[in-house]
Amino acid sequence: MIQSVPLFIGGEFCQSQTTEWVEVTNPATSEVIAKVPCATEQEMEHAIKNAAETFKSWKDVAISERARVMLRYQHLLKEHHDELAELLSKETGKILIDAKGDVWRGIEVVEQAANIASNMMGETVENVATDIDSYSMIQPLGVCCGITPFNFPAMIPLWMFPLAIAAGNTFVLKPSEQVPLTAMRLAELFEQAGAPKGVLQVVHGRKEQVDTLLKHPVIRAVSFVGSVPVAQYIYKTGTDYNKRVQAFAGAKNHMVVMPDANKAQVINNLVGSSVGAAGQRCMAISVAVFVGSTKEWIEDLKTEMAKMQPGAWNDDKAAYGPLISREAKNRVVALIEEGKAQGAVCQLDGTQCNVEGMPQGNWLGPTLFTGATTDMSIYEQEIFGPVLVCMEVDTLDEAIELINNNPYGNGTSIFTANGAAARKYQHEIQVGQVGINVPIPVPLPFFSFTGWRGSFYGDLHAYGKQAVRFYTETKTVTSRWFDDDIPTGPNLTIQLR
Ligand code: NAD
Repeated sequence: MIQSVPLFIGGEFCQSQTTEWVEVTNPATSEVIAKVPCATEQEMEHAIKNAAETFKSWKDVAISERARVMLRYQHLLKEHHDELAELLSKETGKILIDAKGDVWRGIEVVEQAANIASNMMGETVENVATDIDSYSMIQPLGVCCGITPFNFPAMIPLWMFPLAIAAGNTFVLKPSEQVPLTAMRLAELFEQAGAPKGVLQVVHGRKEQVDTLLKHPVIRAVSFVGSVPVAQYIYKTGTDYNKRVQAFAGAKNHMVVMPDANKAQVINNLVGSSVGAAGQRCMAISVAVFVGSTKEWIEDLKTEMAKMQPGAWNDDKAAYGPLISREAKNRVVALIEEGKAQGAVCQLDGTQCNVEGMPQGNWLGPTLFTGATTDMSIYEQEIFGPVLVCMEVDTLDEAIELINNNPYGNGTSIFTANGAAARKYQHEIQVGQVGINVPIPVPLPFFSFTGWRGSFYGDLHAYGKQAVRFYTETKTVTSRWFDDDIPTGPNLTIQLR
């Protein structure tokens, strides 16, 4: 029998009463592995009200106790790391090593959440006027929510609810309806870690359920990660309803290849960062910018890329898994065909790819384009598949101009042996996350995930200190005490608790 994914409301896993369900499929086989409910209006209301009620007590739980929940959670996640990775592989098709990375990058954020007290310290200035002191304190907002995409079912929910909750908020998570199973396991482990009932709610659904969150007066902040049109919609609607919003969107990440770079490193890193996870990473390299003579390396790049073939999650030889759905594959194939029709040269064409014994999988082979121009769809749009577009320029200045003219600004990297070129690049490039000889420069959680321009709508970014600011409010106190109020005579009691 097909598993019905429950909701998680008020600390209880419960079956939805909805009549609307979405099938969850294994993208390597197209087998239906579960069905996920689109929560009813009543269930949404119940989850939000529960979060609001729990907030009243959770905000006053000692910060060290809130941190201890995260310590226990981190421990449990590590203990169940491999099991979570396998579950995640089943619903995303990710190969095991990638799935493990997904879980691990999430665990690292939970570690930061356990360090919440040092990120919630206010400031003090004594004697702002004679005998008057001013100090600030950081307080939680209330009920926050998170809407997450399919491509990192562990890491991205873990970017959100542990920090928000450690900061004293309660949280409503709406995971991607394509990959709800990992999120439910994350919730189970959170409960086992001793999180009080009602601190985290998990609801399921699509636009309608997201709209309820965006418009509900109780919700104070919205964290979103997903595609560009939805991010724009979430930012606009959420802010119209007076919510704080951070919306992380799509990307087109360029890697610049300088003539003094180590050729073997360039090729290795380009291959891994473009086709890894079937290109379904918001930080995947999707454009290689060859400077000067390095365009001669494209032939060797093509040879190495061609060796990368997709396969099942537990196949050691597979370089990556399938695309998430038939719809996603059809979209990528259509973009590849459009690229050819618009005159780009398809050096490697992955559209006819098959994997033995798995004819129903959404497979796509590595695909490489040269001769593209900036007005072609394969350059303008995020493809989100194992597709690399090669551009050629004569100088570093031209490479910088090309990238700064692209609307996205999530990640980029430069491969070079020249410190001055690297310094110029990091300074002038209008992209929020820069790698120097590092292809996918995702910051660790003591920093923040800092996409720019068309890849991000909002002000404060995910995890790190910025996320703590996002999920909190600053209160400033100015205080004055009069000497006359100091009691005279001895006070012999010591009251400590
Ligand atoms: P998506 O935008 O289709 O879905 C994301 C979430 O939004 C899901 O929970 C979905 O149910 C919900 N949603 C979908 N349509 C909606 C609508 N019309 N109104 C309200 N909610 C809606 O994204 P996806 O396909 O799941 O994820 C892939 C995208 O996410 C890619 O574009 C990728 O670049 C992006 N992404 C960005 C980052 C980043 O940090 N910038 C990280 C990971 C993924």
